[in-house]
Amino acid sequence: MPKKPPTPTCLAEPSIRLSARGVARLQARHPWVYRSDITEEKDVPPGAVVRVLDSRGKFLGTALYSSSSQIAIRMISHGSVSDLPGLVAERIRAAIAYRKELVRNTDACRIVFSEADFLPGLIVDRYNDVVTLQILTQAMDAAPVRDAVLQTLREELQPAGIVERVDARIRELEQLPALSSRLLWGEKSSTVINMNGGHTNGGNMNGGMTGGEGSNAVRFHYDALEGQKTGAFLDQRENYAAAAEHAHGEALDAFCYQGGFALHLATKCASVTGVDSSRPALEMAERNALLNGRELEWIEGNAFDLLREYAAANRRYDTIVLDPPAFAKTKRDLEKALGGYKELNLRALKMLRPGGVLVTCSCSFHVGASDFLGVVADAARDAHKSLRLVENRGAAKDHPILLNVPETSYLKCLILIVSN
Ligand code: SAH
Repeated sequence: MPKKPPTPTCLAEPSIRLSARGVARLQARHPWVYRSDITEEKDVPPGAVVRVLDSRGKFLGTALYSSSSQIAIRMISHGSVSDLPGLVAERIRAAIAYRKELVRNTDACRIVFSEADFLPGLIVDRYNDVVTLQILTQAMDAAPVRDAVLQTLREELQPAGIVERVDARIRELEQLPALSSRLLWGEKSSTVINMNGGHTNGGNMNGGMTGGEGSNAVRFHYDALEGQKTGAFLDQRENYAAAAEHAHGEALDAFCYQGGFALHLATKCASVTGVDSSRPALEMAERNALLNGRELEWIEGNAFDLLREYAAANRRYDTIVLDPPAFAKTKRDLEKALGGYKELNLRALKMLRPGGVLVTCSCSFHVGASDFLGVVADAARDAHKSLRLVENRGAAKDHPILLNVPETSYLKCLILIVSN
């Protein structure tokens, strides 16, 4: 029987071949293949949808290609893809359905988390009635894909504004034309969000853009065209509530940014001090305190120096939160990062009263969960304290973890009680 001719879409799509190591990565369900594992790529345009083949030409699935990144392809399907914008829209709807199922008591959460939602290169966050998006790869930057993203978000979430937040460095690395952060749709780019409202219609993720104002919700100003990164504190949302559950007495929130932990602690503690090196972050923290009718103390300074000084001056606290920026940006920084975490945790432990609560976080992907536990255990040993681990936590559920994609798991948050 004569062979069926390939369909035109097959002909139109470029294909690439992988080395055995590249194939093994895909078989292990990791979506990335590095350029060094591509054995054949002919005239593949930047951002193309490519058919992925093994060395013998066996079809393995469909991927998004980048001409500039070391991660040359990111898998998008184990089958064929004839309509990428349609597939992106479908995946966004699935990501929203997942949040509706799992996210409670907030009107702010991550809607799409790139690989973890099978949409490599796309991040979408919802802040009440403002939606932000970030595009990180050539394929997601293509006009038909952008249109599909925008239209789906408008239909499904009916926001008052959609803002694109641009990471200039990433666009440069991806060899994409420079852009600035801007409103893409609607007229609103700043709003007030409500989280951890608990009861009274506590703002479950719903199709509309209302809710979240549970009677005890903590409120924050959000401005999509300012701030350090999109969703700076969404991944900590459930940890704020967990920290507040255990917090008491006099509290210190080191690396407080705009007051995420501090304002939650204030619902339980007699006094709360927040420390950060960024003045704009503290100015926003104070505005957030006013919004919640709370009085907190904010100190602008280097948290390392301040903890050292306070520990030397025998200051005491009942609750301390440590949430520093990522110390290990690459694997090579690991030893230094572990040293940094050890020092911070040691100082904090010295200042905690018996029965005190330590909430200690690491958002460095390169510092694994067991490395981090080890470092805190070392600090406890050096501080001559016994610590009880009451909660071993990660990012909130709207930041899903794919078991075979370690990069999707980065945040560690331990809640410990000092026994003596
Ligand atoms: N806990 C915050 C997020 C912290 S992000 C929240 O949940 O919202 C890390 C913060 O550390 C940033 O606000 C940054 O300004 C601050 N920072 C970085 N280096 C610092 C230092 N040496 N001392 C104090 N703050 C620092």
